[in-house]
Amino acid sequence: VTETQPLADRSPDELAAFLTEQRAAYDALKGRGLKLDLTRGKPAPAQLDLSDALLALPASYTDANGVDTRNYGGLEGIKEIREMFAELLWVEPEQVVAGGNASLVMMRDVLTDLWLKGAVDGERPWSQEEKVTFICPVPGYDRHFTLLDWFGIDTVTVPMNDDGPDAEAVAALVASDPSIKGMWIVPTYANPSGSVCSQEVAARLASMPTAAPDFKIFWDNAYAFHHLTEDEAKSADILTLASAAGHPHRPIMFASTSKITYAGAGVAFLAASVENVQWYLKHLGAGAIGPDKVNQLRHAQFFGSPQGVRDHMVKHREIIWPKFEAVQSVLDSRLGGLGVAEWTKPTGGYFVSLDVLDGAATRVVQLAKEAGIALTPAGASFPGGNDPRDRNIRLAPTFPELDAVTEAMDAVATCVLLAAAEQLTA
Ligand code: PLP
Repeated sequence: VTETQPLADRSPDELAAFLTEQRAAYDALKGRGLKLDLTRGKPAPAQLDLSDALLALPASYTDANGVDTRNYGGLEGIKEIREMFAELLWVEPEQVVAGGNASLVMMRDVLTDLWLKGAVDGERPWSQEEKVTFICPVPGYDRHFTLLDWFGIDTVTVPMNDDGPDAEAVAALVASDPSIKGMWIVPTYANPSGSVCSQEVAARLASMPTAAPDFKIFWDNAYAFHHLTEDEAKSADILTLASAAGHPHRPIMFASTSKITYAGAGVAFLAASVENVQWYLKHLGAGAIGPDKVNQLRHAQFFGSPQGVRDHMVKHREIIWPKFEAVQSVLDSRLGGLGVAEWTKPTGGYFVSLDVLDGAATRVVQLAKEAGIALTPAGASFPGGNDPRDRNIRLAPTFPELDAVTEAMDAVATCVLLAAAEQLTA
């Protein structure tokens, strides 16, 4: 046998020999006593360092409207940061709210408002519906699913393709089931697949007839500017598409600077129709007088312009691209051609999505754990933590140092090979 002959083409004897080899490789790996972690989709310290000029800002405390940012007020956020991110997100400033440090909190707020008060185009609060269901493209972002679970919202999955969610599957579901009130989508460099939603898919989602009059697209553009190559994906303009299709209140867009400046101290944004923005602010106003405008102002001063944000992202790219290249090169050299795994080659975002043999993901994660490599739990990218094919593993290479990424990926490859050998000889 050659080293790259697909395992499926090998004889039982060859597979038995392969299993013996992989057991020895795995024992050697365990003997090294590694302690590595590929679970954390967060910026590395070197990336955070890029924004340390923030710590000496703002240089003044009045915003472009002459408002004293140190004081109460201005629920919608300061003028200059709304304008800056409106341009970046292809929307109008009056369609943008600049909030606190986490877009996830804004997502929860919007769900809470829908639940308790109902949508601008809704007949009643969602809590008064017999059942509320969300469409979840999979693999997807685990925290989206946790939020739904917390509300008691049912989930139905659709495949996440290279060009975004399977739009025909989505359209078929929403057409007849009025309990389907919304869907998640990470349109640009999705977590974890790296897919970019095409203009065509976005247009279909924006225009499809829905049995629920108040169907909402939670357009979580967390990685809108997070390009890994010079081939920069442009996010579809969902607000304009929806408005042109007669459904202006359908999409609610979220974004933040969590992976641009500081993950714990950035600025989060919501963008939607002006009516949706007013609706959001009305409910927000019941429990808030204004956001941290000083933080918003220092961000505006730090970036200077929308181009300042784009330029800043190039510096991130220079730090993390080599880590993504390391993931690809280890996977290619160790697993290529063997028919035991497939993986994404993202051009942006924070993740690589690895599919191993059906039924093997849990075993791979367990083997890795026993060898000192923490991987995201198998199934985490599916609602309820349940990957029906038990094959998907999310890899997050940004946080560890480059050498650690290479070492961890080499270990992951060893675990994938052992799990495959076990399965094919069982
Ligand atoms: N949305 C997606 C798709 C993410 O991957 C993440 C973080 O990993 C977030 C939202 C969190 O965003 P924020 O820090 O703005 O709450």
